[in-house]
Amino acid sequence: MGGSAVVVGGGIGGLAAAIGLRLVGWEVTVVERAAVLADVGAGISLHANGIRALNALGVDIGAAARPQYTGGTRAPDGRRLARMDGAALERELGTPIVGIPRADLHRLLRAALPAECLVMGAEVTSVDRGGAGRVRVPVGDGVREADVVVAADGVNSGLRAQVFPHHPGPAYSGSTVVRAITERPVELDTDFDLTWGGGAEFGHIAFVDGRAEWHAVYNAPAGVRHEDALAEMRRRFGGWHDPIPTLLEATRPDAVLHHDIHELVTPLPAFAAGRIALLGDAAHAMTPHLGQGACQALEDAAVLAAALAAEPTVEAALSRYDAERRPRSQSVARAARRAGRMGQHLAHPLAVAVRDTALRLAPSRATVRTVLRHADWRPPRLG
Ligand SMILES: Cc1cc2nc3c(=O)[nH]c(=O)nc-3n(C[C@H](O)[C@H](O)[C@H](O)COP(=O)(O)OP(=O)(O)OC[C@H]3O[C@@H](n4cnc5c(N)ncnc54)[C@H](O)[C@@H]3O)c2cc1C
Repeated sequence: MGGSAVVVGGGIGGLAAAIGLRLVGWEVTVVERAAVLADVGAGISLHANGIRALNALGVDIGAAARPQYTGGTRAPDGRRLARMDGAALERELGTPIVGIPRADLHRLLRAALPAECLVMGAEVTSVDRGGAGRVRVPVGDGVREADVVVAADGVNSGLRAQVFPHHPGPAYSGSTVVRAITERPVELDTDFDLTWGGGAEFGHIAFVDGRAEWHAVYNAPAGVRHEDALAEMRRRFGGWHDPIPTLLEATRPDAVLHHDIHELVTPLPAFAAGRIALLGDAAHAMTPHLGQGACQALEDAAVLAAALAAEPTVEAALSRYDAERRPRSQSVARAARRAGRMGQHLAHPLAVAVRDTALRLAPSRATVRTVLRHADWRPPRLG
């Protein structure tokens, strides 16, 4: 089946959806409210499932992504609690986890789309679902009609609120995140690491050019901001093991981003309503504790395109999309929340000691198994 789609939101999910839909012969317009298309954030880890979805969409991130062969979990004094065997993951899945600057991933996705299918600086807050026919989308001063609208407008999705007015929307996870990319290359012993303290974690992801992203996630009331976030990170984490002080030292204060982490605790009853499909964080915003949010958005994009290509009607395609995507992504979201509760959120010293001991005693295969549980997914064929 061919047709036309309006994708609301030009984040990782929206761009990937547009690429997938074009691959299966649909006409696509992406409407993004920002004047300039970019991804706010530092770096991102992609697991095999996200990389496979990208491959199915024809997007090769190879040279821009750094494989994570070495790293794992540490305690603030530097003791290693667990190792992640990237080579073992590669043997199982064909790829280890990789790290990439978000701006690079976004650039590669954008490059796979012709400029004329992007409408920038236009906000879509609601759509006219009218009768059984096409959906009318107000864009700027005009209206576009489409067979399908893809709501890829992120965690605070306005279209989700329109489609599910009784859903409570996203909730604060209890954690806030401060992150940045270093200004210059940093000498690091590992491709990535995650250090768990009480109610806080500090991680890094190394990039191909030797720079690295770091992120500090910690328990805090919603909305708290620091006058000088970098100075606050030095105060909180400057006494933790190397290379944490080095990473902070190599960062410019104006490169630091601070966001509260929200998630959809109440799962959506459906990822589609009429001719509107919800995708990415709009459908299943999750905490970052498994590094799976964007990977799930990429899976959504591949599955949505395959369903629209294979099914005879939009209704049948969106019903298939919902059936294939909702159980899996909502189960990954639950697992991410659990991972946060058992890891970064734990603040009581006794609970922290038990967690750390359990990690140290776990067989090295256990960390690989945790990744495999969610990363071993295969995309449908497109085109
Ligand atoms: C700290 C942190 C670390 C993370 N790390 C990882 C990781 O390592 N690996 C991983 O896979 N995932 C990770 N994630 C999750 C990942 O970032 C998200 O799941 C992913 O970016 C969601 O993409 P999206 O396109 O659905 O939403 P977004 O990226 O939020 O994009 C939504 C877009 O819609 C636009 N928009 C919003 N409203 C409108 C409107 N009304 N009209 C037009 N446009 C609109 C916005 O401007 C934006 O461009 C992390 C998340 C956080 C917070």
